[in-house]
Amino acid sequence: MWVKRTQEEITTAKKRRRRGRIQGSVFFAVVFGLLATFTRGGGRSGHPFSIVPLEDVPRQLPFSLFLGSVAGLIFYCFPGDSGKNVVCPKCGKVESKHSQPQCSCGGHFKDSETMKWV
Ligand SMILES: [Zn+2]
Repeated sequence: MWVKRTQEEITTAKKRRRRGRIQGSVFFAVVFGLLATFTRGGGRSGHPFSIVPLEDVPRQLPFSLFLGSVAGLIFYCFPGDSGKNVVCPKCGKVESKHSQPQCSCGGHFKDSETMKWV
C-alpha cells in the first residue's frame, strides 16, 4: 500500500531525481557532442552523413561543444514528465500528474514523490 514519505525521504527522492536529470543531460551532451564532432552531412556523397576526417576534427570542435551544451541544457530544462505521477492514498490508483485532483474512489491524489509503496 501507499504511505506518506517522511520529509527526509522526500528530500532523498528529490536529490535522486535531480541526479538522474544531471546524468541524463551529461549523456545527451556527450552523445550530441561526439556526433557533431565525428559526423556531418553527406553532401554530394549521397549518404545521409559521413565520417569527419581526423584532421578536420579540431575545426568541428567549437560547433560540437556548442551543440553538446545546448543538447544537455535542453534535456536538463525539459526532462519530460516521466516519473511525475500522482497516487491516491485511499485506493492506490496511480495517474499522470495532469489528470483530475480527485480520484474516482473519493480520495485526493498526492504527488508520487511524497508517497512510497510499502
Ligand atoms: Zn482512489
